Amino acid sequence: MSEHELRVSKIRNGTVIDHVSGGQALNVLAILGIDGEAGESVSLGINVPSDRLGKKDIVKVEDRELSQSEVDVLSLIAPEATINIVRDYEVADKLRVERPDFVTGVLSCPNRNCITQANEPVVSKFDVVDDGVRCTYCSTIVREDIADHLDVD
Ligand SMILES: [Zn+2]
Repeated sequence: MSEHELRVSKIRNGTVIDHVSGGQALNVLAILGIDGEAGESVSLGINVPSDRLGKKDIVKVEDRELSQSEVDVLSLIAPEATINIVRDYEVADKLRVERPDFVTGVLSCPNRNCITQANEPVVSKFDVVDDGVRCTYCSTIVREDIADHLDVD
C-alpha cells in the first residue's frame, strides 16, 4: 500500500470515489446529499498528491453504494473520478463515470427569468453539452463552476 492510500482508512462496505479533482470533495458530498445529519460515516482526503491529477480528492462513504445515476451527475464536476463499490473490504464493483445526456433537479438555472425560478417552479433540467450544461427551458449555458449551481438539499 502506498503512502497516499494510507491517508484515508479502508472501509468495510460502501463506495470509494477516487481521483476527484482537487478541492471538489465537498461538492461531491453536496451532490450526494450528504451533510452529516443522517449520521453517515464519510472519510475525506483533500488535495492528496496524485501522479495523474497533480492533486486529487478522495471520498469514502460507508454503508452506501452509489447508483449509476448518481455517478452520472458526479461526472459533471469530477470527470476523472473512479468509483469502487466495496463489500467486506474488497472492491466488488467498479462504476463507469460517463457524462449523462441531461440532469434533472440537480442544478439551478442562473437566469432569474427562467421558468424554473418561478414561484411555482418546474424541476430544473439541463442538457449536457460539450463545454458545459444548457438549461432546457431558457438555453442559458453554464460552463464553469458548475458546482456553484448545485441545487441539492
Ligand atoms: Zn433556465
